[in-house]
Amino acid sequence: MSRVLVIGAGGVGSVAVHKMAMNTDIFSHITLASRTKSKCDAIAKSVLERTGVTIDTAAIDADDVAATTALIKSAKPALVVNLALPYQDLAIMDACLASGVNYLDTANYEPRDEAKFEYSWQWAYQDRFRDAGLMALLGSGFDPGVTSVFTTYTKKHLLDRIDTLDILDCNGGDTGLPFATNFNPEINLREVTAPSRHWENGQWIEGPALSHKQVFDFEGVGPKNMYLMYHEELESLAKFYPEIQRIRFWMTFGDSYLKHLEVLGNVGMTSIEPMMFQGREIIPMELLKALLPEPSSLGPLTKGKTNIGTIATGEKDGKARTVYVKNICDHEEAYAETGNQAVSYTTGVPAMIGAAMMLTGKWQGAGVFNMEQLDPDPFMDMLNQHGLPWTVEDLAAPLAF
Ligand code: NDP
Repeated sequence: MSRVLVIGAGGVGSVAVHKMAMNTDIFSHITLASRTKSKCDAIAKSVLERTGVTIDTAAIDADDVAATTALIKSAKPALVVNLALPYQDLAIMDACLASGVNYLDTANYEPRDEAKFEYSWQWAYQDRFRDAGLMALLGSGFDPGVTSVFTTYTKKHLLDRIDTLDILDCNGGDTGLPFATNFNPEINLREVTAPSRHWENGQWIEGPALSHKQVFDFEGVGPKNMYLMYHEELESLAKFYPEIQRIRFWMTFGDSYLKHLEVLGNVGMTSIEPMMFQGREIIPMELLKALLPEPSSLGPLTKGKTNIGTIATGEKDGKARTVYVKNICDHEEAYAETGNQAVSYTTGVPAMIGAAMMLTGKWQGAGVFNMEQLDPDPFMDMLNQHGLPWTVEDLAAPLAF
């Protein structure tokens, strides 16, 4: 039985808090804090209606380390779950150190003024967390998060040696809107417009953004174009699994989404360079974010399924084997349960499970941890029990591309 403080009242925060309230044996008391308190209160109302659990809410600017430290001291959580934006990661880690509390997030730190995300900034906190006897768990969403746990499970149970790994992320959901991003638009667009990068024979291979396309037939969705992309977990997978010769990440995008992105890029709307407009400085990407629908508003509109998994080739008992581990999640079912669509659901549930791993002591340690470093079995069990069931399938042959 433990108290938890969740920071961030977007789609992911909403799902995580609903799921925590469904597991009061683990999460005995929940405080939800975010920049806009009314969003926390709306989530608290939904949680009360759906689960009968009352949660506390608070306003916080998590960029302000002193204010966040004071909030943590008054809420007295055993764990802070950071579901705000990647920009806040270091400030919240600092506040956790100042107040002596464990930390969890779902996205690695990214500076505001540079579209660059990598673990180095957070890995640099290793000694401080270890010396304080505290645990920081990085990237406990779906990808990063579950995809790394699928890989660790593959290595533990399915393959003695992994040679290649492909992560396939398909969102087959349709909002009926001409253009919307399914999680924070600014973070989403920064990710999608970055050069592609994959790991091969000990080095990173870079290419232009969205230039390498393949078609894959996703169960529950059908054939979709997917594009080679750089994604956070490639960095930690390459670090913790040096045996893997090639690691790639693929994400599906529809033609209409890409056309909008191309036009917006061409006219400069995806730029993060400040510019002067009518006498004041603006950042085009932030203006675009303000114009696009909030991901948390997409719940009632989205129909279809997500399908995210890992395909690993390698050897088991001296024989070549290719295994596909995946989850399929239905947008409308996710919405019916928590009031949020499946992209928020597939991130918020693993955030809740990662928090449960830490609070129950199934995952423990002092220092900064990635998902690959921890036992996959109890996490995989909870995925099955809490709405994200997975399957393991032997494929007849490795991917042909
Ligand atoms: P949203 O934009 O919907 O929500 C973000 C929330 O954080 C908002 O409530 C926002 O407040 C709040 N926030 C922003 N800045 C601050 C601040 N300085 N202090 C306090 N609160 C703040 O995003 P999502 O819910 O879609 O995503 C949340 C996180 O999950 C992101 O980091 C995202 O990258 C990550 N993610 C991870 C995935 C994974 O699989 N690992 C997949 C999808 C998302 P306000 O409403 O006032 O702006």
